[in-house]
Amino acid sequence: MAYEEIVDLIFRIGKQSKLDKDKVAIIANPEREIKVSIPVKMDNGETKIFQGFRVQHNSARGPYKGGLRYHPCVDLEETRVLAALMSLKTAVIDIPFGGSKGGICVDPKNISKTELKRLTESFAEKIADFIGEKKDIPAPDVNTNPQIMKWFRKRYEKIVGKDTPGVITGKSYSDGGIRVRDEATGLGGAAVTQEIAKILNKKTQDITVAIQGFGNVGHHLAHHLYHMGFRIIGIADIDGGIMHEDGLDYHKTYKDFSKGKKICQVCYCNIHGPSNDCKVVGANEVLELKTDILSPAAVGDQITKENAHKIKAKIIIEMANHPVDAEAEKILSQKGILIVPDILANSGGVLASYYEWQENVQGIKLSYEESVKSLIDKMKKATRTVLELSRDQKISMREAAYMIALKRIAKAIKK
Ligand code: NAD
Repeated sequence: MAYEEIVDLIFRIGKQSKLDKDKVAIIANPEREIKVSIPVKMDNGETKIFQGFRVQHNSARGPYKGGLRYHPCVDLEETRVLAALMSLKTAVIDIPFGGSKGGICVDPKNISKTELKRLTESFAEKIADFIGEKKDIPAPDVNTNPQIMKWFRKRYEKIVGKDTPGVITGKSYSDGGIRVRDEATGLGGAAVTQEIAKILNKKTQDITVAIQGFGNVGHHLAHHLYHMGFRIIGIADIDGGIMHEDGLDYHKTYKDFSKGKKICQVCYCNIHGPSNDCKVVGANEVLELKTDILSPAAVGDQITKENAHKIKAKIIIEMANHPVDAEAEKILSQKGILIVPDILANSGGVLASYYEWQENVQGIKLSYEESVKSLIDKMKKATRTVLELSRDQKISMREAAYMIALKRIAKAIKK
């Protein structure tokens, strides 16, 4: 996704909402973009330079909030796009954060653990002045995890000379994290699905779901939908997957997948007693299944003009960031397919991060049960608000979500 695509939408929806032009221009431009060179002493004694980025998009509603990803595709453009999506996301679910994103252009699989630690510590040193529990709060993202966050936090704390657990979220439970965080994006997506599925006017057990991507988001989404009673008919990860019209057993599928087995190697359809007639589907084929609900939960740009006309789902829940590109969206809308946008559907993770930050910084502590309930209630409320506006204004749910977010951000901007 190009940043221009977001800017076009911001200006178009800003105009449609009759927002102050100057405020819209402020929102369309990131407040700060940081690019740093990070020298790292490699295990062989040589020094290698990596490129790191942090884009702080908008802070009108509160401290910047956004993940850190380590991936060979990380660059300024991608970071800028993801930072803007974070500002919109935090505004759609109405939490007092702005939006940011960061990362390092590196394939963590190609460096050792000690090199990864030095890289993370060196990056923390480079951007420490711009980070803080009330300034900008990173979190794990693609290829980063609580351990990497811990290295980042420890180096940051060494620089500022004090203990600041709230400077990052997504910490492990023993380091001041909260239990719901790991499952939060998938749980939030399941809550959104449950709310939106009401429009299908069907019993939950008759509502079919297909999911692409069985990583953190995809498997937690599948877990919660399964327990809510939805019929998950297809699951695929990058090496392919399986489908069965009677539904798949989430637990059996995930048990084997988490042990390294490919989903397409085993039949998991024995909800109604053992059988052996699952059909193998490819990673992309799963998108084209005849299903009520389709959730792309893997990576971006999975539905494009090349395959949009083959999509048979009635509703698409965008769990990955930007899984449907703009051209595909036009084709899908003409086919009457409802798209629940990423800035709403996958915002459960940042919502849980907010609970973690509140606990660390403001001393507001929720039990696991309270955080689950609050997350589900807030996600459902945001879904209803976006759906109602889209119906009132006869606009897509993406346009409605942008409208709500832009109004909230604009209101907070002081000129
Ligand atoms: P992850 O790395 O844990 O899982 C992604 C899974 O998708 C992996 O199992 C991978 O093998 C699979 N995959 C990759 N390409 C695929 C393809 N073409 N077809 C099928 N499967 C494929 O990542 P995640 O944390 O689950 O994130 C998934 C998506 O959700 C990403 O787009 C991420 O940006 C977005 N997201 C994640 C969170 C979060 O809290 N984790 C929050 C918001 C958005």
